[in-house]
Amino acid sequence: MDYVLDTHCHTIVSGHAYSTLEEVVKKAADEGLELVAITDHAPGLPGGAHMFYFSNLHVVPNNMYGIEVLRGIEVNIISYDGNIDVDDYTLSRLDIVIASLHPPCLDFGNIEQNTNAVIGAMKNPYVNIIGHPDDGRYPLDYDKVVKAARDYNVLLELNNTSLNPKGFRKGIENDKIMLKKCMELNVPIVLGSDAHISFDVGNFDNSIKLLEEINFPKELVVNTSKDKLKRFLKG
Ligand SMILES: [Zn+2]
Ligand SMILES: [Zn+2]
Repeated sequence: MDYVLDTHCHTIVSGHAYSTLEEVVKKAADEGLELVAITDHAPGLPGGAHMFYFSNLHVVPNNMYGIEVLRGIEVNIISYDGNIDVDDYTLSRLDIVIASLHPPCLDFGNIEQNTNAVIGAMKNPYVNIIGHPDDGRYPLDYDKVVKAARDYNVLLELNNTSLNPKGFRKGIENDKIMLKKCMELNVPIVLGSDAHISFDVGNFDNSIKLLEEINFPKELVVNTSKDKLKRFLKG
């Protein structure tokens, strides 16, 4: 098994996802993963979980069905200087934080605005991953974004759902540009299923296909070991 962890999964509390936390973790264990992160949508996204859900996440065991469970969140970037919709205290008590651009939390900006938004979020000491930085509706300057990921020790995500041909992010060309930049500068990435139902947990099929197509080195994918991921989890 090449990829032993999935850092991006939603449960029913995200408002537009369909499995419980237990179903997600059980599926991850059944798939042979060693670690799964539960990263439900923050309150700023319509239907997202209430703040109390995140402040109470410590009741979830960090080991279930024999695998490690990271209690996390997917926060929304809400301004072009990179502000997010969750306070530092709440984030400091979680294991992993993904920051993402989502409509309607931030209007689709121009390339400079979107790039500033993403880099601003990277400067937040609690942000570990930028979720789906390939969304064609929010164009980015990948030269700047990849360099900032390196400088702020933040992972850029290759999101399996973005690469679904039925999806709305139309990310593949952006991913190719981003991944080539990562290869050039030796900057690691993380694969995330962005599962919204348990059946998709640990599913990286579209991502692996793309990585193979461009000969992306496996050493630069942190999903190959828990230790590799943990170098990016500051807390
Ligand atoms: Zn997202
Ligand atoms: Zn997500």
